[in-house]
Amino acid sequence: MIVTLLGTGSPLPHPERAGPATLVEAGGRHLLVDCGRGVSMRLAAAGIPGPGFLDLVLLTHLHSDHVTDFNDLVTMRWAMSMAPSPLPVVGPPGTATFADRTLAMLRDDIGYRLAHHDDLSWDPACEVVEVLDDEVHNEVLAAHGIGVIAAPTDHRPVAPTVGYRITHEGRSVVCAGDTVPCPSLDRLVDGADVYVQTVVREDLIRAIGLPRLIDVCDYHSTVEQAAQTAARAGVRTLVLTHMVPAPAPHEEQGWIDLAAAHFDGEIVVAKDLTRIEV
Ligand SMILES: [Zn+2]
Ligand SMILES: [Zn+2]
Repeated sequence: MIVTLLGTGSPLPHPERAGPATLVEAGGRHLLVDCGRGVSMRLAAAGIPGPGFLDLVLLTHLHSDHVTDFNDLVTMRWAMSMAPSPLPVVGPPGTATFADRTLAMLRDDIGYRLAHHDDLSWDPACEVVEVLDDEVHNEVLAAHGIGVIAAPTDHRPVAPTVGYRITHEGRSVVCAGDTVPCPSLDRLVDGADVYVQTVVREDLIRAIGLPRLIDVCDYHSTVEQAAQTAARAGVRTLVLTHMVPAPAPHEEQGWIDLAAAHFDGEIVVAKDLTRIEV
């Protein structure tokens, strides 16, 4: 498997970090976890020329920074297609409504393109499966020996939220999304090869001192907490992403040192397009 951190940013716009999105390639299939700002550009940079090449989109939760470019995936999968190809989407309860609302928001654009292109005669569509604490059933992935498990996470008051464990040929990757440590996260991460966790630096955020920024500490794992989860689970590699505040290159070692105090495996501070072989 190959994990590519497509977007490592947070909600805050950053010139070098797109919004949260992670590509997992396994058995020649392409699974995308979340679709934040700029996801289609980063997919293209990773060698995936369009959303038509995605086999599954997995959403961890419906916070805007994780889904803001979902509409772009839907539109470009449709507008670049030669035949109907609904976008397969898995997400927590609420995802089907979110997809319906996205299609409703796109209604005018859909009408423009249908009126303009004689060879485009079908509407875009999503095939949504909602999960909470489930194995994801997908015939294409199963045929290629790829397993996907969802487990609930704790990002309250945002609820429900889920993390995903993707397995192939005995290897496993967990994309946890935004969450504080919790027993079901421990269960999901247990023994994984690679654990991708969105994190915040509570010390730096408190030093900045803005109340609205301090709020984000309530419902994200700190670097220390992510490292503790990684240590309990015995993972090989901890990948830090969605970092708040975003570290400059010369500040990355400080993040690694904080995590290394709790976890003695490999620690990666992700940049956009960081690629990890599993
Ligand atoms: Zn969130
Ligand atoms: Zn987020």
